[in-house]
Amino acid sequence: MKADSLLYPTPKGLYCEKGGFYIDPVQPVERALITHGHADHARAGHQAVLATRQTLEIMAVRYGEAFCQTPQEAPLGKEMRIGDVTVHFHPAGHVLGSAQIAVEAEGMRIVVSGDYKRRRDPTCLSFEPVPCDVFITEATFGLPVFHHPDDAEEVGKLLTSLKQFPERAHLVGAYALGKAQRVIMLLREAGYDAPIFIHGALARLCDYYQREGIDLGPLEPATITGRDKSAFAGRVVIGPPSAFADKWARRFPEPMAVFASGWMLVRQRARQRGVELPMVISDHCDWAELTATIAELRPGEVWVTHGREEALVRWCELEGIAARPLHLVGYDDEGE
Ligand SMILES: [Zn+2]
Repeated sequence: MKADSLLYPTPKGLYCEKGGFYIDPVQPVERALITHGHADHARAGHQAVLATRQTLEIMAVRYGEAFCQTPQEAPLGKEMRIGDVTVHFHPAGHVLGSAQIAVEAEGMRIVVSGDYKRRRDPTCLSFEPVPCDVFITEATFGLPVFHHPDDAEEVGKLLTSLKQFPERAHLVGAYALGKAQRVIMLLREAGYDAPIFIHGALARLCDYYQREGIDLGPLEPATITGRDKSAFAGRVVIGPPSAFADKWARRFPEPMAVFASGWMLVRQRARQRGVELPMVISDHCDWAELTATIAELRPGEVWVTHGREEALVRWCELEGIAARPLHLVGYDDEGE
């Protein structure tokens, strides 16, 4: 069978007609298979949702228990039959619960990787390479200029700054799901054992990570009320990137704007956001990891969903691997 009759792009997202489901649909549908809990992939309002247990639980944390009518758990590695196709989920190494989804019929296997990364992350399972005929990849950082440095070094910059500026509160902007918890774990691994203050928007997800056995150490709410402002001097305060534009951030003593994102490699972006201390920490592959993954899998074909599609498509073609962009819309990687 032809790959593009097994799975093809529609305005609602990637659609599998033989199974009657969409993968990471951007509009409400009857049956959705979901790769991970980031808001642009996991939306509320579908009838049935098939995802890993952790992704289902993260959706419930974010949207409430009624985020869909029928949640169904996909155990990792287990083959499941849906209509005329078989699907199985495998770790993607992106955030807690994230999975790639393999869709198979009549000897054709397509792997939808969702968002993924290859480097070690103490907060989630590592990406598992799954041999396939078609590999569907994102290309958020799909340009050769994107190289993500060692994350321990990036966190080291924050630790150095805390020593240099003990009078300043270090406000770290980090995506609420995944990035925030990873930054906390990297700080703990570097030996930082002081309480870390977290914005209310992160509390329930951090609690969830802790319940899943990821020990984030002592966390305290970043509320000024009833507390001497000086309590935050020389401390780490973590919040979602959106919080840093409003009054919340200005209540802290001499706030130092820190931001943890793959985009911090682009100086202009850091400047535009008024970031004083950029930390290049990404939950996506950089160029070398994207191309190494494709070289390792050697799929018959590569489809590129979102991001910098053209460069990656060109690279595949030069390697003798057929490739095409899917131009999927509705995925936003600004926060990553
Ligand atoms: Zn994501």
